[in-house]
Amino acid sequence: MKKWIFSFVLLTSGAQALTHDTKLSGNYLNRAKVFRPIEFNYVSPESVPSAPLLVKAMKITGFDAQSLGKLDSAFKALEYVVNSDEFKNRVINFKNSKGQRSFASNDGKSNEEIFEIFMDGRETLQHDTSGEMNFFLNLYYKRWSRVVGYTSATTNTININWKYFRNYEAHEVAGNLAHEWTHKLGFDHRSASEHDSAPYAIGYIVEELAEKYLK
Ligand SMILES: [Zn+2]
Repeated sequence: MKKWIFSFVLLTSGAQALTHDTKLSGNYLNRAKVFRPIEFNYVSPESVPSAPLLVKAMKITGFDAQSLGKLDSAFKALEYVVNSDEFKNRVINFKNSKGQRSFASNDGKSNEEIFEIFMDGRETLQHDTSGEMNFFLNLYYKRWSRVVGYTSATTNTININWKYFRNYEAHEVAGNLAHEWTHKLGFDHRSASEHDSAPYAIGYIVEELAEKYLK
């Protein structure tokens, strides 16, 4: 049985779920907090090694010229952000909503380990492409759907619904891509409201930093 991961999907009904999960925009505020150097739990980012991580478009289907332009901006922002000192600090010193230095559904991994796995870029299904964020994207259109995007553990392809994509700004697309790609590394969330999970929290961090970069 294929286990589909419906990201940003409304698995529950209700207006709150709608605003939180169909769109990342604005949600990053107060969601992905960070420990500051004066705090006991702070870890110096310099103590964690990292090598450059490159965005690589592997197979892009279903995008028209305008959508491709937006995707291109998102890719550029994403690559800039994940290699920035600020991103490194935000992931390593991520503070969850309970004030702890850990991601939810983290598979027993520390923030530093999650950062290292992320920057190593070895997707579960593309394990020998170190240092690359490999993207296989398909844009589709389903008018009556509340699904923003979906993927599964058995495919590289990330499917994105144009119904939502068309209204996204490039920094929001960058956040979405980061969320979906974190799934490709094997990280998951138990529900569409597990904002402290690696896919969501890293998505929020990327969206926030990408917005600054694209300004
Ligand atoms: Zn997800």
